[in-house]
Amino acid sequence: MDPRHLFVDQRLTGMCVYCGAEPQTRDHVPSRVLLDEPYPLNLPVVDACEDCNSSFSQHEQYVACLIECALTGSSEPAGAQRAKIRRVLEENPSLRHRLFLSREIDDDGNITWLAEVDRVKTVLLKLARGHAAYELGLPQLDGPRDVAFTPFAVMSDQERDVFECFPQRSLIRWPEVGSRAFIRAVRSAPSDSVNGWLTVQSGRYRYKVEQTDGLVVQIVLSEYLACRIVWD
Ligand SMILES: [Zn+2]
Repeated sequence: MDPRHLFVDQRLTGMCVYCGAEPQTRDHVPSRVLLDEPYPLNLPVVDACEDCNSSFSQHEQYVACLIECALTGSSEPAGAQRAKIRRVLEENPSLRHRLFLSREIDDDGNITWLAEVDRVKTVLLKLARGHAAYELGLPQLDGPRDVAFTPFAVMSDQERDVFECFPQRSLIRWPEVGSRAFIRAVRSAPSDSVNGWLTVQSGRYRYKVEQTDGLVVQIVLSEYLACRIVWD
């Protein structure tokens, strides 16, 4: 058997990677609202049911816009640097208003944005399930042990180092032969991977999937938000 033969895609057929139901469609991971045009070629795709495919999009728009607000200090379309976010904000006055209400300014004029934690976690869990299924052929239908997110701006240098370099101990679970993670590992110098990070679009989206004493998916959104999703 050629270990580089990719069998994970065949095995995935027949299951929505988010809920386990019968799939009717395919879903991009990450979803395109988190990326800019022109989109990268060969975006990862996973099987999904119609319900999952449509139920996340509003939350994903919210997260993409919230990050842009945090980066630019404004919830007005004119303030957005990403053309796509400008469009989303123009077309969604209610989302714009909701974001505006989540803005807080302290006595020194510093702006913070109060994230809707459940919505952010819903999106991160969805993305992590997609990455786990795509990279390892391991759909994670169970609930995660943890879903955490922190802006880089409030992390110490040491916290950031740990986040970037995780795991620092020996890799005790080895990727299955034929999984994407295995194929990446047997390549001598994968050009698309630095320190285990896979860049989907530079400055916009990167992720990393590790099997250590659990399954850990890390995601960085717009080089602003550091996210970690862990399963036992
Ligand atoms: Zn589903």
